[in-house]
Amino acid sequence: MSKRDYYEVLDVSREASADEIKKAYRKKAMQYHPDRNADDPAAEQKFKEAAEAFEVLKDDQKRARYDRYGHAGMNGGAGGFGGGGFSSQDINIEDIFDRFGDIFGGGDIFGGRGGQSRGRGRRSSGVPGSDMKMKLSLTLEEIAFGTEKKLRIKKYVKCDSCNGTGAETDEDYMTCSTCSGTGELRQVSRTMFGSFVNVQPCHTCNGEGRTIRNKCKSCRGEGRVKGEETISVQIPGGVKTNNYITLSGRGNAGIRGGENGSLIVIFEEQEHEYFVREGDHIFYDLQISIADAILGTDVEVPTLKGKARLKVEPGTQSGKLLKMKEKGIQRLNSTARGDQFVKVNVYIPTKVSDAEKKIIQKLKEAPNFDPLTQKENSNGFFSRIKDMFS
Ligand SMILES: [Zn+2]
Ligand SMILES: [Zn+2]
Repeated sequence: MSKRDYYEVLDVSREASADEIKKAYRKKAMQYHPDRNADDPAAEQKFKEAAEAFEVLKDDQKRARYDRYGHAGMNGGAGGFGGGGFSSQDINIEDIFDRFGDIFGGGDIFGGRGGQSRGRGRRSSGVPGSDMKMKLSLTLEEIAFGTEKKLRIKKYVKCDSCNGTGAETDEDYMTCSTCSGTGELRQVSRTMFGSFVNVQPCHTCNGEGRTIRNKCKSCRGEGRVKGEETISVQIPGGVKTNNYITLSGRGNAGIRGGENGSLIVIFEEQEHEYFVREGDHIFYDLQISIADAILGTDVEVPTLKGKARLKVEPGTQSGKLLKMKEKGIQRLNSTARGDQFVKVNVYIPTKVSDAEKKIIQKLKEAPNFDPLTQKENSNGFFSRIKDMFS
């Protein structure tokens, strides 16, 4: 059966960029998707053909080889084509989704472990990378409005020399002879109760199904090396200490093409110089003079976004809470916002001059300064004190 040219299959030029190839494949995949072409063998064949072309053209090494040798370069026996013998004649649709799941799903970083496919009977290639955890300290301002952070992470990254395969060249990849590439060893034991099949990962290839003849020198066959990655993280407003997000695929690189682990970022709220947080609200202690409390004033107070003016009405009592609407913290996953509460504290001086003492002495004698004579308090606390003493 003669094969069509891969570039022709995807309808792209030979100079097409990786992005153009991905887009072209996506278009074809959608067009010939089995869900849209039920019981249409021709469409199914086209769908598989596109997947096969993409499998080669998306990979720089395979593409280069295809460019040089054509289809002949792709059928080089056991090691020829990623060891999997991936050709449109014998693949099934599930396999295509397993390999290219990410192209159909959005890949949203907040989507938890989405886009990953595990096992399902097919042996996975490589060993998955481990998850990583890190703490991220955030200011109250960052929490209040949400923020973007760039994180520099030391971790295992894919080895560039071997493109993560761990092999010096593609030809150094061999199907494991112990398990014939299945990655597992089956042992049947017969007992009087019947036969039992014991399945264990192959010890020669550690369940990978493949072994490497000449290991890549840069990574000593691991397919990954110690490195660093800078990751941008979008942090929504309203998070709390110990809230976390899981960035799937951003943890340690897997061994020899194994799935990457996840990066789990745990938030930690920094203590603020002025504000105390309670849920979505913040509290601020304001000091004003006795005179301002009596006469009223207009003060400048800090907020989570610069300074703001706040009116203190004449006759404001010490301890009163003034509300600055929606100057608090964004509610998580909502556009609503908490308030800023300003607690008024009337400042009592601890040192006074003789001249000041004289003024205070005068105020002491003024009738409006004696709480016990105040009518508005007649039913409250002060009247009860008055009763006690009269
Ligand atoms: Zn390597
Ligand atoms: Zn094996």
